[in-house]
Amino acid sequence: MNVLVTGGCGFIGSHLAERLLERGDRVLVLDDLSTGSMDNIAHLVGRPGFSYRIGSALDRPLVTELVDRADVTVHLAAAVGVRLIVERPVHTIETNVGATEAVLAAAAKKQKPVIVASTSEVYGKSTTVPFREDQDLQLGPTSHSRWAYACSKALDEWLALAYSHEKGVPVIVVRFFNTVGPRQTGRYGMVLPSFARQALRGEPITVFGTGDQSRCFGHVKDAVEGLLRLMDTPAAVNEVFNIGSTEETTIRRLAERVRDAAGSKSEIVTVPYSEAYAAGFEDMLRRVPDVTKLERVTGFRPRTSLDDIVADVVEDQRRRLPASAPMTRRAQAAS
Ligand code: UDP
Repeated sequence: MNVLVTGGCGFIGSHLAERLLERGDRVLVLDDLSTGSMDNIAHLVGRPGFSYRIGSALDRPLVTELVDRADVTVHLAAAVGVRLIVERPVHTIETNVGATEAVLAAAAKKQKPVIVASTSEVYGKSTTVPFREDQDLQLGPTSHSRWAYACSKALDEWLALAYSHEKGVPVIVVRFFNTVGPRQTGRYGMVLPSFARQALRGEPITVFGTGDQSRCFGHVKDAVEGLLRLMDTPAAVNEVFNIGSTEETTIRRLAERVRDAAGSKSEIVTVPYSEAYAAGFEDMLRRVPDVTKLERVTGFRPRTSLDDIVADVVEDQRRRLPASAPMTRRAQAAS
């Protein structure tokens, strides 16, 4: 099968591309390198069946050409990361809505299947956990740019389902919960790689807010497996699915686990949201997926433990540290 992966130089996209190649699919990546990186696909370049184009998913002629060549499109290209969203709301809204529109319009010409990536952010401030795909969404006011991300992805979902109902495009919507693993950078504010880097450098680990807020962290290999299973399941078409782990941790506890896994003596400090993001920033207290629908339809649910995930991320960050930076465990072993 020919698979177009938009955002394929990104964190999830590059892992997906790798797995698709492994199972014998041909992969074409489209990425504008805004948050993705060539480093993420360097090991795939030159492999049989792999190709890439550097360009924007907002470029309609280009998107049309590539969607036409593919049997299925996995649309991951998006403006991601809470910090980016707060700093560049116009870019976020325009990228997320415009690119999805371009992909779906191209797919509609020959009713090509599209998998649209969404996010657990769409559940907004809802406190009804675990979150089920059919529950109400509860977004904050338009004066808070944070909610622009959730709203842009919710609009993507509506657009995808509308293209399905009105134009016969087979779509699957996946809501990724906090997905982590090797290759994710902390550059856009994602907590686990940020904590791992801070711990390995012996810098203070910055817990935003009280640290009592909790999240469930899923391994990217599980997220990719879930995606592939959905792609292969006809009953998944025209449906929305959560993909994520159900093992919950507070962010403070996460900081402690990362510090321990890194063998670090870093101090754990709290930073007010107003300093970390912007005045009036609203965080979600809990975010837990209900993955019974995913399991019922595909027979799969993410199972990698948080301990294994933390270990994997710490190792990945350790490999990325410049040779001159303090390598906590090695430094300790040598002393
Ligand atoms: N967070 C933190 N320190 C950081 C980055 C993030 O305490 O350096 C917190 C953030 O406020 C949120 C949680 O960690 O409560 C998860 O943040 P992330 O941006 O990774 O994902 P989100 O769940 O907000 O999409």
